Amino acid sequence: MDDSSAHAALNSMESPIVVPPHIPARQEAVKDRDYGFLSKAVEEAYEGVRCGDGGPFGAVVVKDDQVIISCHNMVLRHMDPTAHAEVTAVREACKKLERYDLSDCEIFASCEPCPMCFGAIHLSKMKRLVYGAQAEAALAIGFDDFIADAIRGTAYYQKANLEIKRADGSLAEAAEQIFENTKEKFQMY
Ligand SMILES: [Zn+2]
Repeated sequence: MDDSSAHAALNSMESPIVVPPHIPARQEAVKDRDYGFLSKAVEEAYEGVRCGDGGPFGAVVVKDDQVIISCHNMVLRHMDPTAHAEVTAVREACKKLERYDLSDCEIFASCEPCPMCFGAIHLSKMKRLVYGAQAEAALAIGFDDFIADAIRGTAYYQKANLEIKRADGSLAEAAEQIFENTKEKFQMY
């Protein structure tokens, strides 16, 4: 699919895009403004596939009604499993603005964010998230069902293929002391 067919696919949607009800404050139909930014994120998703950078996911960061960063999935390009579109967009937006607080920004994601991306969006304090596709659309072509966990609270840790072990005793104590020992250096939010 190229850009024009991406547009066609978007334009052919009969009903307005509605953010699913699990974001209670965002139940109202997404307005034209959002539609434009979301379309840009979808274009980015196609662009990422076209140039071989990664999976079909795009994300756009908007500040004061202006797109400041437009990114797509870079997992293949960077050989980095964390280089999802939204994480990349958060990183690039922070670099561009030279700060780690994006509380005056919004993010538009072509697809429902995975837990990692949702975490990055949350940590950046982004004031608003608008996404296009529901995770099921990605799952349908084989993407990991892990991606649906973030907003829905359906974490499936048992599916992860690794052993998870929590330290105890003096090792845990030493690791936890880091916070007490360094707290003067950090002014928390
Ligand atoms: Zn992600």
